[in-house]
Amino acid sequence: MFKKILIANRGEIAIRIAKTARRMGISTVAVYSDADKDALHVATSDEAYCIGASTPTESYLNIERVIDAAVKSGSEAVHPGYGFLSENPDFPEALERTGLVFIGPSAESIRAMGLKSAAKRLMTKANVPVVPGYHGSDQRFITLKAEANSIGYPLLIKAVAGGGGKGMRLVEDPENFSEALHYAQSEATNAFDNSHVLLEKYISAPRHIEVQVFGDGEKTIHLFERDCSLQRRYQKVIEEAPAPGITEPIRAAICDAAIRAAEAIDYKGAGTVEFIADGSNGLRQDKFWFLEMNTRLQVEHPVTEAVTGVDIVEWQLRVSAGEKLPLEQDDLHLNGHAIEARVYAEDAANGFLPVTGRLDHVRFADRSRNDCSVQSGDQINPFYDPMIGKVIVHEKNRSEALTQLSAALRETELAGSKTNLSFLIDLAEHSDFAKFAIDTNWIDRNVKHLVQTANPSVNALLSAVLAAVHVGRIKGDLLGFNLWSPLKQAVKLRFNDYISNLSVSFDRNTAYISDKNSSYIAQQRNGLWWHREQRLPLAKAIGSSVWVFEDGGIIFELCDPLYREGKTIADAASVLAPMPGLVTHVAVKKGQRLQKGDKIVVLEAMKMEHGLAAPGTCEVEEVKVSAGDQVEAAAELVRLKIVDDAT
Ligand code: ADP
Ligand code: ADP
Ligand code: MG
Repeated sequence: MFKKILIANRGEIAIRIAKTARRMGISTVAVYSDADKDALHVATSDEAYCIGASTPTESYLNIERVIDAAVKSGSEAVHPGYGFLSENPDFPEALERTGLVFIGPSAESIRAMGLKSAAKRLMTKANVPVVPGYHGSDQRFITLKAEANSIGYPLLIKAVAGGGGKGMRLVEDPENFSEALHYAQSEATNAFDNSHVLLEKYISAPRHIEVQVFGDGEKTIHLFERDCSLQRRYQKVIEEAPAPGITEPIRAAICDAAIRAAEAIDYKGAGTVEFIADGSNGLRQDKFWFLEMNTRLQVEHPVTEAVTGVDIVEWQLRVSAGEKLPLEQDDLHLNGHAIEARVYAEDAANGFLPVTGRLDHVRFADRSRNDCSVQSGDQINPFYDPMIGKVIVHEKNRSEALTQLSAALRETELAGSKTNLSFLIDLAEHSDFAKFAIDTNWIDRNVKHLVQTANPSVNALLSAVLAAVHVGRIKGDLLGFNLWSPLKQAVKLRFNDYISNLSVSFDRNTAYISDKNSSYIAQQRNGLWWHREQRLPLAKAIGSSVWVFEDGGIIFELCDPLYREGKTIADAASVLAPMPGLVTHVAVKKGQRLQKGDKIVVLEAMKMEHGLAAPGTCEVEEVKVSAGDQVEAAAELVRLKIVDDAT
């Protein structure tokens, strides 16, 4: 086995590969771009080399720089992960010339499957069913148009060099053909530097079913199928194994076809053979067709690992090091049901635009496997894809797995940058998905309903208020807060166009919250807040926003967070810091007599200024801080002597 490998990738996949390597006693070498110098994949490896600027062509896609790092580090082999160099046949060839092992298939296998058109011709020869269509090299308009007419509509135009759904266009009727062709060709040229397209009959009620295959040069086996039909714009969102509703004869037919596909190119290593199935009348043995083969580790491989118990990366390492496959086909059995959801930094309500920014708070659930690429405080980088991670659950059956997925997603806390978490929760809990009454276009057809934001619940609002005054997450007794009692603070929160004006006061572990119509009482027990026997969702104030971890994240804006003169009232003996912060102004001197509402101290924290004012008539007994002091939460700032107004 190798002693040291270089991982030519970033993010969750680099971290995931390193994990298995480390377990097997193999040292890991990370590479990183300028933008990634503080990235988690660097911190979690044994050694790391900067390979250039942030643009992928100058770093992660630069074969020479990756190989330099591999040589310098004394690595014996290189794992490409997925994306980047993983399907570039020049990479294994260059590695081989340097005497390094590529942890993946041969350059010839990658080339054979590199262009969808050539791959389909090859598959037809290997007796693998292929979607009827035109896969030829004559790309004249007149030829393509005539072929389209003979295939019939609706049809798909695909970039032969395509991937990730790019360069693909659905054409419903002949009038739209030339425009769609134009778009597909220009997208293909931009993305893949190759304008060639193929034409394909559009399968109705399509289901995406793929088979994980593995070869060691002598035998080829499969690790069953995955269903990846829940897609948005031809890109997978949620994947699962096994495929819902599949029967043993259909499984045998599709897995056999996948093995024929892999054997046709003498495939060595882990690969995925993708099929499209007509799901309009349930799955059928004669109604699935080869789409493409991905000659690499796939994003969704963890669901297969869950149901087979195989560590696919371990197998990749063993096979590349010259070992035989650890198991025979008959040793492999399906166990339970696994589902994966892809978590992205994107704004679902705004056309799923990727977002960048800082993820101030990241916490995944304990109940799920979480392959993630970030930790609290990490930046979502504009140079790479916005995947934050993957949440994977594994249960006895599909319905339990769905319940578990929704619970895991609901427990996931991500704040600071918008994510698709609430969209994923909607999917996981949707009755159509539970019944598997979906196809690959279901999300696109229903997208309007799926991205609607519901108004926040009362509990979410209460939690936001508590986080805004920064006690939302303090563990244990609220100590010093009783000294402020009843401290009354005004909080103005905005959600979309709706503004809530609330006031909060505390008495020991009780918070009294009211707006102009209602009053609420929240109680703190064991570091958590409760309202009417319901636990309030957790929340976090970040800058001028408050993130409530309910329904995948509800974001409130704090309006007017500046000095709350006359609103902050404490008839207590001490003025305490409500949160850690910087004292920017001390307005009082020892012995000074104050009237209710007089400014005492201004504290700056979480990019906001918090004005603390006199609770009533009082005298300053002691000033314990001065401007410029950094203070902890609940630090005593000023001690007051309450003067009874009646005397
Ligand atoms: P497919 O949809 O073809 O099965 P995947 O879902 O595994 O493929 O990934 C989608 C495409 O995006 C692939 O072509 C992969 O190479 C690319 N990709 C995915 N994640 C990344 C990433 N983090 N960096 C670069 N490329 C990526
Ligand atoms: P990519 O390389 O972008 O992954 P694929 O050929 O694998 O391209 O197709 C991606 C997705 O597009 C499929 O998972 C499926 O949802 C849809 N698709 C592809 N071909 C067809 C087809 N012939 N009929 C219906 N849907 C299709
Ligand atoms: Mg594909």
